[in-house]
Amino acid sequence: MPRLSHPSVLSVLILLCTACANRRIPDATTLAPLAERPKNIILLIGDGMATPQISASLYWRGVGRSVWERFPFVGFHQSHAYDERVTDSAAGATAFACGQKTKNGAIGLVPPDYTPCRTILQELSSRGWATGMVVTCSATHATPASFIAHQDLRAFTEYIAEDYLHTPLDCFIGGGRGYFSDRPDHKNLLDSLRQRGYAVRAGVGFGHLPLDGSAPFYLFTAEREPPSAHEGRRYLPTATARACEYLQKRSPKGFFLMVEGSQIDWALHANDANWLKAEMLDFEATVAEALRFAQQNGETLVIVTGDHECGGMSLNAVKNPKHFEVAFTSRLHSAAMVPVFAYGPKANLFSGIYDNTDIYFKMWEALGVKKEW
Ligand code: MG
Ligand code: ZN
Repeated sequence: MPRLSHPSVLSVLILLCTACANRRIPDATTLAPLAERPKNIILLIGDGMATPQISASLYWRGVGRSVWERFPFVGFHQSHAYDERVTDSAAGATAFACGQKTKNGAIGLVPPDYTPCRTILQELSSRGWATGMVVTCSATHATPASFIAHQDLRAFTEYIAEDYLHTPLDCFIGGGRGYFSDRPDHKNLLDSLRQRGYAVRAGVGFGHLPLDGSAPFYLFTAEREPPSAHEGRRYLPTATARACEYLQKRSPKGFFLMVEGSQIDWALHANDANWLKAEMLDFEATVAEALRFAQQNGETLVIVTGDHECGGMSLNAVKNPKHFEVAFTSRLHSAAMVPVFAYGPKANLFSGIYDNTDIYFKMWEALGVKKEW
């Protein structure tokens, strides 16, 4: 008979079991049982975020369970554009939004003749879903633009702003107010939004928004681009949580929310590891809010990915064997595969290796809608 009752053996066993329990079932009391299919989809995009950026963020965080370890399914997407190995954010986001590869710089237009594609946000909106976008760039920047606009070039920011008027988006939180009001053509698109029943607000306070679901709204957090997380920008996690609660009240069918950690990419173009750290921490906190909502809701599919790697970033050894140093081999995007994390009903669809365009088809498949190539 082994001496299992020995106090030290017992205490080690208890410690191990407690550790296992803590690791496997976080806040089990708040977990809702998962539905068979999702009603809601939250797609979170870390612009420029791939494996090196997520690794660095894990190590910077140190002890404790990271948000990344809470996803039961992980896959990889291949990010290349229609005719180039390395994608930009316009082609990258158009692939997620429309399920088709396009040329770099194109917003919601697809080959062969570069006609507008209907984005998943636009189609779900027309089918009665509530839709929203929460970003840390301007509304006209490539990633959010690719979900709602159709323009030859990402640089056509005034035209992109006008395209926002063609889709009844329920909520937008992000920068770029000036592209709607301070325009070369002197049109005031904010008035056009107000005429359509929108509440239009500026700032980063959520107090004066119709969060009870009574009206659609735009909250402009900046005239052009919002400040960096490094400079004290803090709204993304809270805005994401508020947007989920609000969108849930806007339609009984469900909602589609796109959230972007837009400036991860900008920190990488600048080869600035401190800025990157601030943006990654902000994005992790945002992912945690989306997960919290999904865990309590049970009908929400959360997908987190990047559009491409940026900076050709590596994590190198330094003298102190416990530390590492971030190094960059480029100031541009790279072709490395990008991880995809999924939680919720049908999250299993997102494991494996596939094209970035498959994310579009997998989202539809999760909703139970057959989409052909
Ligand atoms: Mg972007
Ligand atoms: Zn970039």
